[in-house]
Amino acid sequence: MKPAPFRYARPRTVADTVGALAEAGGEAKILAGGQSLVPMLNMRLARPALVIDLNGVEGLGAITPSAAGGLRIGALARHADLAASPLVRARAPLLAQAARHIGHTAIRNRGTLGGSLAHADPAAELPAAVVALDASLIVVGRSGTRMIPAGDFFVGLLTTALEADEILTEVHVPPPRGAWGFAEIARRPGDFALVGLAAVLVPAAAAPSRLEGARLVAFGVGDGPVRLTQAERALAGAAPDAAAARAAALAAGEGCTPADDVHASAEYRRHLVTVLAEQVVLEAIARLAPPR
Ligand code: FAD
Repeated sequence: MKPAPFRYARPRTVADTVGALAEAGGEAKILAGGQSLVPMLNMRLARPALVIDLNGVEGLGAITPSAAGGLRIGALARHADLAASPLVRARAPLLAQAARHIGHTAIRNRGTLGGSLAHADPAAELPAAVVALDASLIVVGRSGTRMIPAGDFFVGLLTTALEADEILTEVHVPPPRGAWGFAEIARRPGDFALVGLAAVLVPAAAAPSRLEGARLVAFGVGDGPVRLTQAERALAGAAPDAAAARAAALAAGEGCTPADDVHASAEYRRHLVTVLAEQVVLEAIARLAPPR
Protein backbone atom coordinates (compact mmCIF):
# COMPACT_ATOMS: atom_id res chain seq x y z
CA MET A 1 0.00 0.00 0.00
CA LYS A 2 0.95 3.62 -0.32
CA PRO A 3 0.51 6.27 2.37
CA ALA A 4 -2.46 8.63 2.42
CA PRO A 5 -1.42 12.09 1.15
CA PHE A 6 0.39 14.29 3.67
CA ARG A 7 2.25 17.60 3.69
CA TYR A 8 6.01 17.47 4.42
CA ALA A 9 8.13 19.92 6.42
CA ARG A 10 11.86 19.85 7.13
CA PRO A 11 12.57 22.44 9.85
CA ARG A 12 16.14 23.46 10.74
CA THR A 13 15.66 24.06 14.48
CA VAL A 14 13.97 22.46 17.48
CA ALA A 15 11.92 25.66 17.96
CA ASP A 16 10.59 25.49 14.38
CA THR A 17 9.80 21.78 14.84
CA VAL A 18 7.81 22.50 17.99
CA GLY A 19 6.08 25.41 16.23
CA ALA A 20 5.06 23.18 13.32
CA LEU A 21 3.79 20.48 15.72
CA ALA A 22 1.75 22.99 17.72
CA GLU A 23 0.28 24.54 14.56
CA ALA A 24 -0.79 21.10 13.29
CA GLY A 25 -2.86 20.58 16.47
CA GLY A 26 -2.19 16.85 16.89
CA GLU A 27 -2.40 16.11 13.12
CA ALA A 28 1.40 15.88 12.62
CA LYS A 29 3.94 13.10 13.00
CA ILE A 30 7.69 13.45 13.52
CA LEU A 31 9.86 11.48 11.08
CA ALA A 32 13.20 10.37 12.56
CA GLY A 33 14.63 7.12 11.15
CA GLY A 34 11.29 6.17 9.61
CA GLN A 35 11.73 2.49 10.51
CA SER A 36 8.44 2.37 12.42
CA LEU A 37 6.63 5.42 11.03
CA VAL A 38 7.02 4.64 7.32
CA PRO A 39 5.52 1.12 7.60
CA MET A 40 2.66 2.62 9.64
CA LEU A 41 2.10 5.29 6.94
CA ASN A 42 2.24 2.70 4.16
CA MET A 43 -0.29 0.49 5.93
CA ARG A 44 -2.38 3.58 6.71
CA LEU A 45 -2.25 2.81 10.42
CA ALA A 46 -1.07 6.44 10.73
CA ARG A 47 -2.63 9.16 8.53
CA PRO A 48 -1.05 12.45 9.65
CA ALA A 49 -1.84 15.63 7.73
CA LEU A 50 1.79 16.70 8.13
CA VAL A 51 5.06 14.77 8.42
CA ILE A 52 7.82 16.79 10.09
CA ASP A 53 11.26 15.47 9.16
CA LEU A 54 13.65 15.88 12.11
CA ASN A 55 16.72 15.05 10.03
CA GLY A 56 17.28 18.69 9.02
CA VAL A 57 17.81 19.81 12.63
CA GLU A 58 21.55 20.22 13.22
CA GLY A 59 23.23 18.57 16.20
CA LEU A 60 20.39 16.31 17.30
CA GLY A 61 22.47 13.18 16.70
CA ALA A 62 25.40 14.17 18.91
CA ILE A 63 26.81 11.85 21.57
CA THR A 64 28.75 13.86 24.16
CA PRO A 65 30.27 13.16 27.59
CA SER A 66 28.59 14.95 30.50
CA ALA A 67 30.73 16.69 33.11
CA ALA A 68 29.43 14.29 35.78
CA GLY A 69 30.83 11.26 33.92
CA GLY A 70 27.70 10.22 32.08
CA LEU A 71 26.45 10.89 28.57
CA ARG A 72 24.17 13.23 26.67
CA ILE A 73 22.80 11.48 23.60
CA GLY A 74 20.82 13.35 20.97
CA ALA A 75 17.48 11.90 19.88
CA LEU A 76 18.73 11.41 16.31
CA ALA A 77 21.65 9.18 17.33
CA ARG A 78 21.25 6.04 15.20
CA HIS A 79 21.15 2.57 16.73
CA ALA A 80 24.39 1.81 14.83
CA ASP A 81 26.04 4.88 16.44
CA LEU A 82 25.07 3.66 19.93
CA ALA A 83 26.50 0.22 19.18
CA ALA A 84 29.80 1.53 17.77
CA SER A 85 30.50 4.71 19.78
CA PRO A 86 33.57 4.30 22.05
CA LEU A 87 31.94 6.80 24.45
CA VAL A 88 28.74 4.77 24.74
CA ARG A 89 30.69 1.53 25.05
CA ALA A 90 32.76 3.04 27.88
CA ARG A 91 30.06 4.94 29.76
CA ALA A 92 26.85 3.01 28.97
CA PRO A 93 27.87 -0.42 27.63
CA LEU A 94 24.39 -1.78 28.38
CA LEU A 95 22.95 0.70 25.87
CA ALA A 96 25.53 -0.26 23.21
CA GLN A 97 24.75 -3.94 23.72
CA ALA A 98 20.97 -3.34 23.57
CA ALA A 99 21.36 -1.44 20.28
CA ARG A 100 23.27 -4.36 18.73
CA HIS A 101 20.19 -6.56 19.18
CA ILE A 102 17.84 -4.29 17.18
CA GLY A 103 16.65 -5.62 13.80
CA HIS A 104 19.17 -5.78 10.95
CA THR A 105 22.04 -3.57 9.78
CA ALA A 106 19.86 -1.39 7.53
CA ILE A 107 17.40 -0.77 10.38
CA ARG A 108 20.20 0.05 12.84
CA ASN A 109 21.73 2.46 10.31
CA ARG A 110 18.53 4.52 10.06
CA GLY A 111 16.56 3.93 13.30
CA THR A 112 17.17 6.43 16.08
CA LEU A 113 17.27 6.40 19.87
CA GLY A 114 14.55 9.07 20.05
CA GLY A 115 12.35 7.23 17.56
CA SER A 116 12.58 3.98 19.47
CA LEU A 117 11.77 5.66 22.80
CA ALA A 118 8.91 7.76 21.37
CA HIS A 119 7.44 4.77 19.53
CA ALA A 120 7.56 2.74 22.78
CA ASP A 121 7.16 -0.73 21.33
CA PRO A 122 6.80 -3.09 24.31
CA ALA A 123 9.30 -5.53 22.76
CA ALA A 124 11.92 -2.85 22.01
CA GLU A 125 15.37 -2.99 23.56
CA LEU A 126 16.18 0.69 24.08
CA PRO A 127 13.22 1.63 26.32
CA ALA A 128 14.18 -1.18 28.71
CA ALA A 129 17.85 -0.13 28.58
CA VAL A 130 17.16 3.52 29.46
CA VAL A 131 14.89 2.47 32.35
CA ALA A 132 17.56 0.07 33.68
CA LEU A 133 20.15 2.85 33.43
CA ASP A 134 17.84 5.32 35.21
CA ALA A 135 18.34 7.80 32.37
CA SER A 136 16.45 11.09 32.01
CA LEU A 137 14.64 12.13 28.84
CA ILE A 138 14.65 15.76 27.73
CA VAL A 139 11.53 16.88 25.90
CA VAL A 140 10.81 20.28 24.40
CA GLY A 141 7.39 21.73 23.66
CA ARG A 142 5.56 25.05 23.36
CA SER A 143 5.63 25.56 27.12
CA GLY A 144 9.35 24.84 27.52
CA THR A 145 11.69 21.99 28.38
CA ARG A 146 10.91 19.07 30.70
CA MET A 147 13.21 16.39 32.09
CA ILE A 148 11.33 13.10 32.53
CA PRO A 149 12.82 10.10 34.35
CA ALA A 150 12.84 7.16 31.92
CA GLY A 151 10.72 5.18 34.39
CA ASP A 152 7.91 7.75 34.05
CA PHE A 153 8.14 8.19 30.27
CA PHE A 154 6.47 4.93 29.18
CA VAL A 155 2.84 5.13 30.22
CA GLY A 156 1.11 2.37 28.19
CA LEU A 157 1.09 0.40 24.97
CA LEU A 158 2.87 2.53 22.33
CA THR A 159 2.14 5.51 24.59
CA THR A 160 4.53 7.91 26.30
CA ALA A 161 4.39 11.03 28.45
CA LEU A 162 5.06 13.20 25.34
CA GLU A 163 2.38 15.86 24.69
CA ALA A 164 1.22 16.42 21.10
CA ASP A 165 3.41 19.53 20.72
CA GLU A 166 6.53 18.00 22.32
CA ILE A 167 9.56 16.29 20.86
CA LEU A 168 12.19 14.21 22.57
CA THR A 169 15.52 15.95 22.01
CA GLU A 170 18.07 14.25 24.25
CA VAL A 171 18.71 11.41 26.69
CA HIS A 172 20.90 11.98 29.74
CA VAL A 173 22.58 8.82 30.99
CA PRO A 174 24.05 8.99 34.51
CA PRO A 175 27.67 7.97 35.17
CA PRO A 176 28.19 4.19 35.17
CA ARG A 177 27.66 2.47 38.54
CA GLY A 178 28.07 -1.20 39.29
CA ALA A 179 27.76 -3.80 36.56
CA TRP A 180 25.27 -4.71 33.86
CA GLY A 181 23.79 -7.67 32.01
CA PHE A 182 21.62 -7.90 28.90
CA ALA A 183 20.04 -10.82 27.07
CA GLU A 184 17.08 -11.56 24.86
CA ILE A 185 15.41 -14.45 23.06
CA ALA A 186 14.05 -13.97 19.54
CA ARG A 187 12.85 -16.59 17.09
CA ARG A 188 15.42 -15.54 14.46
CA PRO A 189 18.32 -13.07 14.60
CA GLY A 190 16.92 -9.61 13.83
CA ASP A 191 13.37 -10.39 14.95
CA PHE A 192 11.77 -8.42 17.75
CA ALA A 193 12.49 -10.20 21.04
CA LEU A 194 9.97 -12.62 22.53
CA VAL A 195 11.41 -11.61 25.89
CA GLY A 196 14.46 -9.62 26.92
CA LEU A 197 16.08 -8.57 30.18
CA ALA A 198 18.34 -5.66 31.15
CA ALA A 199 20.00 -5.55 34.57
CA VAL A 200 22.17 -3.15 36.55
CA LEU A 201 23.62 -4.31 39.90
CA VAL A 202 25.11 -1.76 42.30
CA PRO A 203 27.47 -2.96 45.05
CA ALA A 204 27.21 -1.32 48.48
CA ALA A 205 29.90 1.36 48.84
CA ALA A 206 30.68 0.42 52.45
CA ALA A 207 30.54 -3.37 51.95
CA PRO A 208 31.22 -4.33 48.31
CA SER A 209 30.55 -7.99 49.12
CA ARG A 210 26.85 -7.00 49.32
CA LEU A 211 24.58 -5.40 46.75
CA GLU A 212 23.16 -1.99 47.54
CA GLY A 213 20.45 -2.52 44.94
CA ALA A 214 19.54 -3.58 41.44
CA ARG A 215 17.41 -2.50 38.50
CA LEU A 216 15.94 -5.34 36.44
CA VAL A 217 13.79 -4.45 33.46
CA ALA A 218 12.02 -6.90 31.15
CA PHE A 219 10.67 -6.24 27.66
CA GLY A 220 8.19 -8.24 25.59
CA VAL A 221 6.15 -9.05 28.68
CA GLY A 222 3.81 -6.09 29.13
CA ASP A 223 2.64 -2.79 27.67
CA GLY A 224 6.14 -1.32 27.91
CA PRO A 225 9.38 -1.89 29.80
CA VAL A 226 8.51 -3.73 33.05
CA ARG A 227 10.52 -3.18 36.26
CA LEU A 228 10.85 -6.54 38.03
CA THR A 229 10.58 -5.07 41.50
CA GLN A 230 10.22 -8.40 43.35
CA ALA A 231 13.51 -9.55 41.84
CA GLU A 232 15.12 -6.20 42.68
CA ARG A 233 14.03 -6.60 46.31
CA ALA A 234 15.48 -10.12 46.36
CA LEU A 235 18.86 -8.72 45.33
CA ALA A 236 19.00 -5.67 47.62
CA GLY A 237 21.40 -6.43 50.48
CA ALA A 238 22.26 -9.89 49.11
CA ALA A 239 25.74 -11.21 48.43
CA PRO A 240 26.29 -11.22 44.64
CA ASP A 241 26.42 -14.97 44.08
CA ALA A 242 24.66 -17.80 42.28
CA ALA A 243 22.09 -18.25 45.06
CA ALA A 244 21.08 -14.59 44.83
CA ALA A 245 20.80 -14.88 41.04
CA ARG A 246 18.52 -17.92 41.40
CA ALA A 247 16.34 -16.22 44.02
CA ALA A 248 16.04 -13.11 41.83
CA ALA A 249 15.17 -15.22 38.79
CA LEU A 250 12.34 -17.01 40.61
CA ALA A 251 11.02 -13.69 41.94
CA ALA A 252 11.24 -12.20 38.42
CA GLY A 253 9.07 -14.98 36.96
CA GLU A 254 6.54 -14.72 39.78
CA GLY A 255 6.43 -10.93 39.58
CA CYS A 256 5.46 -10.49 35.94
CA THR A 257 2.21 -11.13 34.10
CA PRO A 258 2.83 -11.51 30.36
CA ALA A 259 -0.07 -12.21 28.00
CA ASP A 260 -0.63 -14.97 25.42
CA ASP A 261 -0.25 -13.93 21.80
CA VAL A 262 0.44 -15.52 18.42
CA HIS A 263 4.18 -15.63 19.09
CA ALA A 264 4.26 -17.29 22.54
CA SER A 265 2.10 -18.31 25.47
CA ALA A 266 2.14 -16.33 28.70
CA GLU A 267 3.55 -19.38 30.47
CA TYR A 268 6.48 -19.68 28.04
CA ARG A 269 7.21 -15.96 28.33
CA ARG A 270 7.24 -16.22 32.13
CA HIS A 271 9.63 -19.16 31.85
CA LEU A 272 11.90 -17.05 29.61
CA VAL A 273 11.83 -14.21 32.15
CA THR A 274 13.09 -16.64 34.82
CA VAL A 275 15.82 -18.03 32.58
CA LEU A 276 16.99 -14.66 31.30
CA ALA A 277 16.85 -12.98 34.72
CA GLU A 278 19.24 -15.57 36.12
CA GLN A 279 21.46 -15.20 33.05
CA VAL A 280 21.72 -11.39 33.19
CA VAL A 281 22.24 -11.29 36.96
CA LEU A 282 25.05 -13.87 36.71
CA GLU A 283 26.52 -11.87 33.81
CA ALA A 284 26.49 -8.70 35.91
CA ILE A 285 27.96 -10.53 38.93
CA ALA A 286 30.84 -11.73 36.74
CA ARG A 287 31.50 -8.10 35.74
CA LEU A 288 31.44 -7.03 39.42
CA ALA A 289 34.17 -9.50 40.34
CA PRO A 290 37.62 -7.87 40.53
CA PRO A 291 40.03 -9.21 37.85
CA ARG A 292 42.38 -11.92 39.23
P1 FAD B 1 10.39 6.69 13.28
O1 FAD B 1 9.89 5.48 12.59
O2 FAD B 1 10.82 7.83 12.43
O3 FAD B 1 9.29 7.22 14.32
C1 FAD B 1 8.65 6.34 15.20
C2 FAD B 1 7.62 7.10 16.04
O4 FAD B 1 8.27 7.95 16.97
C3 FAD B 1 6.71 8.02 15.22
O5 FAD B 1 5.46 8.10 15.85
C4 FAD B 1 7.41 9.37 15.30
O6 FAD B 1 6.53 10.43 15.12
C5 FAD B 1 7.96 9.34 16.72
N1 FAD B 1 9.23 10.06 16.92
C6 FAD B 1 10.41 9.77 16.33
N2 FAD B 1 11.38 10.55 16.83
C7 FAD B 1 10.80 11.36 17.73
C8 FAD B 1 11.28 12.39 18.59
N3 FAD B 1 12.59 12.72 18.64
N4 FAD B 1 10.40 13.02 19.41
C9 FAD B 1 9.08 12.69 19.38
N5 FAD B 1 8.57 11.71 18.61
C10 FAD B 1 9.42 11.06 17.79
N6 FAD B 1 13.02 -2.03 17.00
C11 FAD B 1 13.48 -2.62 18.11
O7 FAD B 1 13.52 -1.98 19.15
N7 FAD B 1 13.91 -3.93 18.10
C12 FAD B 1 13.87 -4.70 16.98
O8 FAD B 1 14.28 -5.86 17.01
C13 FAD B 1 13.38 -4.10 15.79
N8 FAD B 1 13.29 -4.81 14.65
C14 FAD B 1 12.79 -4.20 13.54
C15 FAD B 1 12.67 -4.94 12.37
C16 FAD B 1 12.16 -4.36 11.21
C17 FAD B 1 12.03 -5.19 9.96
C18 FAD B 1 11.78 -2.97 11.22
C19 FAD B 1 11.26 -2.31 9.98
C20 FAD B 1 11.90 -2.23 12.39
C21 FAD B 1 12.39 -2.82 13.55
N9 FAD B 1 12.49 -2.11 14.73
C22 FAD B 1 12.96 -2.73 15.84
C23 FAD B 1 12.08 -0.69 14.81
C24 FAD B 1 13.29 0.24 14.75
O9 FAD B 1 14.12 0.12 15.86
C25 FAD B 1 12.91 1.70 14.70
O10 FAD B 1 14.10 2.35 14.41
C26 FAD B 1 12.34 2.36 15.94
O11 FAD B 1 11.23 1.67 16.47
C27 FAD B 1 11.83 3.74 15.64
O12 FAD B 1 12.88 4.59 15.39
P2 FAD B 1 12.91 5.53 14.14
O13 FAD B 1 14.01 6.49 14.36
O14 FAD B 1 12.93 4.74 12.89
O15 FAD B 1 11.53 6.34 14.31
